[in-house]
Amino acid sequence: MSRYFRGVWDGVYTVLIGMKVTWRHLFTRAVTIQYPDVKVKLPERARNRLYVNMDDCIGCDQCAMACPVDCITIETVKSTPDVDLGLTSVGTKKRLYVSQFDIDIAKCCYCGLCVYPCPTECIKMTDVYEFSEYERENLVYRFAVMTPAEIDAAKSRLVAYDKEQAAKKAAAAAARPAAAPARGPAPAASPSSPAPKPAAGGPSPAAAPTTTPPAAPAPAAVSTPAAAPATTPPAAPAPAAGSTPAAATPPAAPSTPPAAPPKNDTNP
Ligand code: SF4
Ligand code: SF4
Repeated sequence: MSRYFRGVWDGVYTVLIGMKVTWRHLFTRAVTIQYPDVKVKLPERARNRLYVNMDDCIGCDQCAMACPVDCITIETVKSTPDVDLGLTSVGTKKRLYVSQFDIDIAKCCYCGLCVYPCPTECIKMTDVYEFSEYERENLVYRFAVMTPAEIDAAKSRLVAYDKEQAAKKAAAAAARPAAAPARGPAPAASPSSPAPKPAAGGPSPAAAPTTTPPAAPAPAAVSTPAAAPATTPPAAPAPAAGSTPAAATPPAAPSTPPAAPPKNDTNP
């Protein structure tokens, strides 16, 4: 009999314990939100869906190079000098048409490495995290805004410009040989110029050059000391003027003539 009442008490007691927890949570703040009607606010730097502002994209490809899973595909077309593509919001000049800018978000691992190297800060993470699709192809986001006709026109302009530049280069190359012979006479004048130099050197070195014609320029330098004694003959003409000029003038064979003066010095 006592066991019967004991069992009834245990049943009531456990219900009261369970209800105690329920009653306690009736007066606490709810933490569950009614998603998707209610959405939780994400942290400021959360990584979610990528977005590219094509008005600021210069097609530098740095984001694609930084991507570790190669989910960014960029194609560009060079603009010609006569086309002004304008500036980005940070003042960078745009020189390339961005004909394709695709991000395969199905491959993306949300590492954020593509965001940091962008020089114009035009690729960024958004707070959009709901972009499930039925078709995988729909997860490739295409940001380029050029139409196929615009891309073709840009490519045609570039091809025409390249051809024009190639023609100009060919014309310049053809004109070069015509300019080269014009320089021919100039070198002919140069050999004539050294000839006057020895002539100006004076009559005294003229004897030496005759013996050593190829070394003519060198004696010209030596001839200057010869001129010096000529200007100052009274100062010290006798002691060295007689011997030194003789040693200086034959610079073609300087080693042997210097031997003679020492003999003179020793004899006296
Ligand atoms: S977040 Fe990472 S994986 Fe995704 S596109 Fe950028 S670099 Fe590539
Ligand atoms: S790094 Fe920035 S500017 Fe360069 S291609 Fe990528 S999105 Fe465009």
